[in-house]
Amino acid sequence: MLADKNPQKTSLAELGEFGLIKHITQYFKLNNASSIKGVGDDAAVLDASKNQTLVTTDLLVEGVHFDLSYMPLKHLGYKAVMVNLSDVYAMNGEAEQITVSIAVSNRFPLEAIEELYAGIQLACDTYKIDLIGGDTTSSTKGILISVTAIGKAAKEDIVYRNTAKETDLIVVSGDLGAAYLGLQVLEREKQVFKVDPNNQPDLDNYTYLIERQLKPEARKDVAGLLKELKVKPTSMIDISDGLSSELFHICTQSKVGCKIYEDKLPLDPQVISTCEEFELDSTMVALSGGEDYELLFTVPIADFDAIKNNPNFSIVGHITAENQGLQLITRAGQEMELKAQGWNALKE
Ligand code: ADP
Ligand code: MG
Repeated sequence: MLADKNPQKTSLAELGEFGLIKHITQYFKLNNASSIKGVGDDAAVLDASKNQTLVTTDLLVEGVHFDLSYMPLKHLGYKAVMVNLSDVYAMNGEAEQITVSIAVSNRFPLEAIEELYAGIQLACDTYKIDLIGGDTTSSTKGILISVTAIGKAAKEDIVYRNTAKETDLIVVSGDLGAAYLGLQVLEREKQVFKVDPNNQPDLDNYTYLIERQLKPEARKDVAGLLKELKVKPTSMIDISDGLSSELFHICTQSKVGCKIYEDKLPLDPQVISTCEEFELDSTMVALSGGEDYELLFTVPIADFDAIKNNPNFSIVGHITAENQGLQLITRAGQEMELKAQGWNALKE
């Protein structure tokens, strides 16, 4: 349906493991001075210099984390890198290297793996990341991809989850809920396609949502934007499971509470119109829809003026004392307890 079907099919067995590794890594160039040795030896070599090193990893499994009937492999490769870079940026660090490990069944031809690596390479080129290694093996069924990202930051620049302070403002970059709705639209089209394969989906009204689901961008720019504003976050996390869930991590680890204002949640117009169409509550979607890959951070209240009119950021609430718990203030002014549900909660 949505995914391109590549007519050419070269069997992986024909190429062999070493042939495949050579083939998929041949066009990658190293961008960072800290990458001393990339692919090709028993281990990559990095120059750690005087910074602290950030390491993060994510494992994506076909049928659990993605569905290839609407996730083109190129997008999968791109997204697998983004979810890891997002974690490095959420520490206020600079991402520099990745390793990529894949397990593939021989139902995939070489051309499919090429597509996956085209997406990985696009991500590396765009974000100036070096692919420095990985592992390649077979699976009995489906495809599995694990990416590890390595980054750096000066000790004093790193921002943790456990350092939010009472009265701090709570800020999010970008807008919320679009990626989750993109998934709902794609799932619906998949069902329609199953019933009538000739039915061409009209996705014009959902372009932003689908892009947010299929081609998320990690917020590499936020660290620089905040530096320009002379603002250093007191705590930070990336929004992968939904705002509520991430607020829970910050509040639990920092031993604080928070107040979030429903009317301050940043929503794209397509999120609002699609929520109406799907009869979903847009606040629920913003709080619990996952995969936005925006950054959630807290700043001292003294930075209010620096943040308030910046189009990249929305102040959605503030940090309170731990015994206040996590509260959502509705448009009607009612206080409701926030639930710690990630995107899974929306599934049922
Ligand atoms: P070893 O047998 O020492 O584990 P491999 O034959 O698995 O080495 O890998 C050879 C080189 O290719 C190493 O530098 C490894 O990091 C790299 N490599 C293997 N698979 C991948 C992959 N899927 N993507 C990127 N690099 C890879
Ligand atoms: Mg190996």
